[in-house]
Amino acid sequence: ATILGIESTCDETSASICIDGKIYSNIIANQAVHGKYGGVVPELASRAHQQNIIPTVDQCIIDAKIHKNDIDAVAFSRGPGLLGSLLVGTSFAKAFALSKNIPLIEINHMQAHILAHFIEDPKPEFPFLCLTVSGGHTQIVKVNNYFEMELIGQTLDDAAGEAFDKTAKILNLPYPGGPLIDRYAQQGDPLRFQFPEPNVPEFNFSFSGLKTSILYFIQRNTAKNPSFVEDNLVDICASIQDRIVSILLNKLETAAKSLGIKNIAIAGGVSANSGLRSTLKERGAENQWNIFIPKFEYCTDNAAMISIAGYYKYLEKDFTTQDVAPLTRWSVE
Ligand code: ATP
Ligand code: MG
Ligand code: FE
Repeated sequence: ATILGIESTCDETSASICIDGKIYSNIIANQAVHGKYGGVVPELASRAHQQNIIPTVDQCIIDAKIHKNDIDAVAFSRGPGLLGSLLVGTSFAKAFALSKNIPLIEINHMQAHILAHFIEDPKPEFPFLCLTVSGGHTQIVKVNNYFEMELIGQTLDDAAGEAFDKTAKILNLPYPGGPLIDRYAQQGDPLRFQFPEPNVPEFNFSFSGLKTSILYFIQRNTAKNPSFVEDNLVDICASIQDRIVSILLNKLETAAKSLGIKNIAIAGGVSANSGLRSTLKERGAENQWNIFIPKFEYCTDNAAMISIAGYYKYLEKDFTTQDVAPLTRWSVE
């Protein structure tokens, strides 16, 4: 079966073709407009989706070397995300399915981040534990089957991606700051500055205290030395990243031990982080885990993860109707 996947939850417009479980194209249009505002501006995001959706879908069909009429079903991100953004992808998918008289498949974006692990080998065996770390979510999910997931723990305030982006903003780096912190951190000393690890019950996370302590730390030091950030940027970034990574992996390790699961995956935009990837490999070796790390292009938002998820729902004939509406909030369960 040939599945067209559409992703438009936040600020990436993306379209992908999946044929019989293999990805043939994955086009991503990023929205540069948000950089100068220090975050995604919802109104601008939905307008940009409106402009990008047709050329993105056209290009993904050309790249896959197929014809529009070869498509057997349309899968789209129904949520969670920004309403104005979701409406563009949802409306497009509905119109396309209606005009071609083919099935429509709704996909949960957070499940899709996890199902990106089924794009290429090695694919994790069920059950596995997935740490999903993205711009809006930080979750530990027990994945029992493709669409049978249990939320084991989550953040009580900011997401890990937000922790990166908000601390980057304190350092005067443009949005999204996560990839920039990663780049500077690679040249820095992670042990130079110590930031606190919060004490959070169970398998949950908290990042707002870390953000505040970094803000005060920067204010205190900048008062003494106005060029403190410029002078120490790589060490500050390395120390911040090291703390975020240890917060994430300490909880993941506790959860894995307590549930007795050794198949461990990471997913979402922050799983592109080089410190998280390398430290997970070390922890994996210590704990005899089978670890699964997505390719870079499948970490941040993309439609390949939507079309592969759509393929698995297509096999189950799990279709949706034309009266479907987007969900701004939608549990991974
Ligand atoms: P959600 O999936 O929760 O709805 P989202 O779709 O906006 O949120 P993603 O696109 O999955 O999130 O991820 C974007 C986030 O990933 C941003 O916060 C960005 O800073 C972060 N990120 C991307 N690359 C890196 C990196 N190398 N290091 C740290 N953070 C990164
Ligand atoms: Mg994004
Ligand atoms: Fe996402």
